[in-house]
Amino acid sequence: MLTSFNRDFLPEVWLADFNSTVFKSLCENYTMKYHDNTWTVEKMNTNEVVAEAASLGMHPTTVLQNQWRMKDSKTGLWYDSFLYFEHTNLESSFDSPLSMHKIGYDFFMRKKLTKIVWYEDPSTGMIFHTAAKQKNDVFGKRYCCICGMSFSANNFVSQHMRKHPTISRMQSPVVECIFLDEI
Ligand SMILES: [Zn+2]
Repeated sequence: MLTSFNRDFLPEVWLADFNSTVFKSLCENYTMKYHDNTWTVEKMNTNEVVAEAASLGMHPTTVLQNQWRMKDSKTGLWYDSFLYFEHTNLESSFDSPLSMHKIGYDFFMRKKLTKIVWYEDPSTGMIFHTAAKQKNDVFGKRYCCICGMSFSANNFVSQHMRKHPTISRMQSPVVECIFLDEI
């Protein structure tokens, strides 16, 4: 489940379909999907596109916050928007890890983490936590979707992400700037 912010006329709550590729507003009047490097939000009854984001973000929550634009329903004119989406619930544990498919394969590459999460590495099926420091005597890791594997959480941003300088990291106006490596 996703929550939208700076949403203007759009609904607040969104649900992923089984494949986590199409998202529908809870009231079932809007659909959000990815096609040709662009996320679009359409009205379900008319297929009219009312919001779109040209983005390489692999999930609505990894679309950068200045990439959305929305269409004024009265004038039909497009305007820049600060629309963004967050996971409503990122609770996780070793026994109930998050799936990269559900949170976005580029999640750790773009998002600023505000808490530790547990996730399943899609390349190995192993369960990792994301803490930079040891937890239960195990060091944390984070998944890189370009390399297709997990790397040490301790220097993921300061070292590993330097290998991928074209990946833009999110600058959230809401969440205080917290360095990933310190969590
Ligand atoms: Zn990488």
